[in-house]
Amino acid sequence: MWQEIQNLIKASGERIKADSNLITQLLEHDFVYEFAIPVNMDDGSVKVFKGYRAQHNNWRGPYKGGIRFHQSVNLDEVKMLSALMTLKNALVELPFGGGKGGVVVNPAELSERELELLSRGYVKKIYQHIGSDKDIPAPDVNTNPKILSWMQEEYESLTQSKIFSAFTGKTIESGGSYGREEATGFGGVVVLKRLVEKLGLFKNNKDITIAVQGFGNVGYYFAKFAFDAGFKVIAVSDSKGAVYVKDGLDPVATLKCKYEKGTVAGCYCVGSVCDVKFGQSINNNDLLAMDVDVLVPAALENAINKANMKDVKAKVIVEMANSAISESALSYLNQKGVIVVPGILANSGGVIGSYFEWVQGRTGLWWDKDKVLRSIDKKLSLAVDKVVTSFKDSELDFSQVCYDLSVKNLIKVRTYNL
Ligand code: NAD
Repeated sequence: MWQEIQNLIKASGERIKADSNLITQLLEHDFVYEFAIPVNMDDGSVKVFKGYRAQHNNWRGPYKGGIRFHQSVNLDEVKMLSALMTLKNALVELPFGGGKGGVVVNPAELSERELELLSRGYVKKIYQHIGSDKDIPAPDVNTNPKILSWMQEEYESLTQSKIFSAFTGKTIESGGSYGREEATGFGGVVVLKRLVEKLGLFKNNKDITIAVQGFGNVGYYFAKFAFDAGFKVIAVSDSKGAVYVKDGLDPVATLKCKYEKGTVAGCYCVGSVCDVKFGQSINNNDLLAMDVDVLVPAALENAINKANMKDVKAKVIVEMANSAISESALSYLNQKGVIVVPGILANSGGVIGSYFEWVQGRTGLWWDKDKVLRSIDKKLSLAVDKVVTSFKDSELDFSQVCYDLSVKNLIKVRTYNL
């Protein structure tokens, strides 16, 4: 996976004729930490978990990126994700570099006490290398505001400080920001709306249909804001199943139903009513192959790959999960003329929200949700407009234009070349 991002960086470097000495530096990580986290388990035993933190590049500012708790976390993935953060932050012109962390663990197998010890143990191992001006972690898959607040508390205790901006994605009570929870999905819809308007993506802007893979934080809020904006979300899925509602489903009612059933499967919700007469169950793979205007992979990496890329019928793909489209699938879809909005633009609302949380933590001036969401909208719309201007002037694919702008924004902050 890291190799795929290296290929993207190299290709951009060649297209924009960047100094190869600068590009070479982007093909390596500044630092990669791998460490053991011992946890006293409830049964009296000690279990050792493997933790990682990769710091790819900090030319634009302190390293920034989430911490993932998942059984499949590995070094290659963490390196890939941290480099994507560098590219994302550069594309939307944030004063951040790229970082990412992870722990190899299935958090569902831990008690609340064990999870807290693991979260605090992660910080004990890495605290000297992170901080508001060095590297600012955030939540990612299976980590949440509570976990980030434990981490911040541990950091404060180890550094004998009271600091609100060393972590983002915290609870409101411990210095988090209103609007951070919905920021990523909200941002994805800001991007989609802007592209529909500026590029005239569809002949008719009425009844644009959307299918969303993944109904977690990102997928749910994407579906909700898309619904609020008048798009027709006709299918959603989670790890246990998928639903199709021909006339468009109601995301809020679907979420309520998912809480009751444990899955979206069987939730055919129109308005506040969920009834089988409105829709049908489909399988997860069928969702990716649906004849929709917009497909939104918002679950996992590599969701669209060599094996299923030829089934995709959507005209636009908004990549909300990082690296949801493999290198070979991206090149196939580009050739087919599909507009692929890469994750570094599509899901950047999340890190922009984190940026505003960091700003609030550093200044001690706390904003309301409306101000946070308006500020994300403004920052992201500006970034989309720059991409659109370059795209209209070029022969390149949409995703290539995004990567090229990002690499340009990265190297332009370099005034010397070591
Ligand atoms: P989440 O854990 O809240 O949700 C993931 C969802 O995907 C769940 O509903 C899960 O059931 C579903 N899922 C898993 N496997 C699936 C499958 N095979 N088919 C269909 N659905 C499946 O995670 P999230 O925070 O929503 O993150 C989703 C993706 O977006 C991740 O790749 C993450 O790195 C990326 N991302 C998240 C944020 C953020 O702010 N949360 C920001 C940027 C990028």
